[in-house]
Amino acid sequence: MATLRTFALFNTLTRSVDPVVPLVPGQISLYTCGPTVYNFAHIGNLKTFLFQDLLKRAFLAGGYLVRHCMNITDVEDKIIRDSQKDVDPAAGNAERHAAMKALTDRYTAAFLEDLAALRILPPTVTPRATEHIPQMIRLIQGLEAKGLAYVREGSVYYRISALPQYGCLARLDKEGMKLGASVDADEYEKDALQDFVLWKAAKPGEPWWESPWGPGRPGWHIECSAMGIELLGERIDIHSGGVDLIFPHHENEIAQSEGCLGHTWVNVWVHGEFLLVDGEKMSKKLGNFYTLRDLRAKGFDPLAFRFTIQSNHYRKVLNFSLDGLKAAENALKRIRLFRKRMEGDGGAHGQGAWKEAVEPLPRIAQAREAFWAALGDDLNTPEALAALFTLITDLNALDDRIALTREERNAALAFLDETDAVFACWPHEEEQADAAVEALIEARKAAKAAKNWAEADRIREQIKGMGIVLEDRKDGTVSWRRG
Ligand SMILES: [Zn+2]
Repeated sequence: MATLRTFALFNTLTRSVDPVVPLVPGQISLYTCGPTVYNFAHIGNLKTFLFQDLLKRAFLAGGYLVRHCMNITDVEDKIIRDSQKDVDPAAGNAERHAAMKALTDRYTAAFLEDLAALRILPPTVTPRATEHIPQMIRLIQGLEAKGLAYVREGSVYYRISALPQYGCLARLDKEGMKLGASVDADEYEKDALQDFVLWKAAKPGEPWWESPWGPGRPGWHIECSAMGIELLGERIDIHSGGVDLIFPHHENEIAQSEGCLGHTWVNVWVHGEFLLVDGEKMSKKLGNFYTLRDLRAKGFDPLAFRFTIQSNHYRKVLNFSLDGLKAAENALKRIRLFRKRMEGDGGAHGQGAWKEAVEPLPRIAQAREAFWAALGDDLNTPEALAALFTLITDLNALDDRIALTREERNAALAFLDETDAVFACWPHEEEQADAAVEALIEARKAAKAAKNWAEADRIREQIKGMGIVLEDRKDGTVSWRRG
């Protein structure tokens, strides 16, 4: 077996970059908080999923087995609000559940499409919260038995004053905080210490499940604790999410899981920073709100978006812009041209053989070490990419002068594949062309939807010019083939 690469990550729990010491040598258990499926994921959400994919791919390429659990939150405040607004007030529970499922199925499918378009590896398991209600109830009962939870009017709350380590992840200044009233909402600010809800008594107009406390539904935080313990176990190597989840969500997950288990649940907590768009917070009001679909409709390749996210360190706020996407496309083009050059035989290049100060094979080996050292140091992707791009510059220059041998070209190609196993967006000729066609088809669809017929026709001509035959089907979908 190849030797394992070593990794250190910034652990939010310790606020330092700690070496990752797996519970089982050579294996990593990874829990990542999945989407709340009531709408399309926006690019801020996708930034988190992309950083987690890179984290996972780095371990996989570094020789580890990774068991990855990502939940789908398919019952939660916003889901209920959006799914129930058009349901007949007289509807029964079954109808309310059906309306909720229709909404969450639709957006789960859209989310999985986004993951595939971004080459995000499917998790080992993708549990849905609504399929783990009994596990949640058992966990809450365990907390009740330990005096960590209490019932009030059919709802169950966590008694945070009973858990001394509450606040350890978010580093809450408990001395300076006032004790607030218990809170029913899933999301809240950290201005006061509040007993949070584990189980919510059913309100009129909401879907519900039977429970020992009467009809109700789980709070959001308990979902991840129950599914994480069920599917990854009582000890987990890495748990990850966006920085916005540190409080209250992850703090509450720790309180629930560790309150019940009586020991540390997760060794390393890893959080990715958010993104700005053109220097501002993304919002629908400002008109700078993007989903992956929006970017595709503008003709961008999802992999350019993947590269944009990954060329930024995950713990730095990313300032996203469409110009940045264009720069990413150019960087990927450099990789494509380099691959093409290395695949060729170098025929016309090369002035002859003389001894170079740096030989190609040792130069590639050096780049490989620099690449892995950077990734191992808290996933320093900008430095890892610098190692690759500097190598590309150097090998192009060497090839101009001495014409690389077949063996050297193959070594360069192998390193390109090795880095692609982590970054997963290096272009390959045919795929690149396919992606360009798909992007144009999306752009044409958007133009049609906006009744911009001239633009739709223009794009159709552009596609035709690429030698592609389009076929509009009756059901509104479009198929294409090379003519
Ligand atoms: Zn979670």
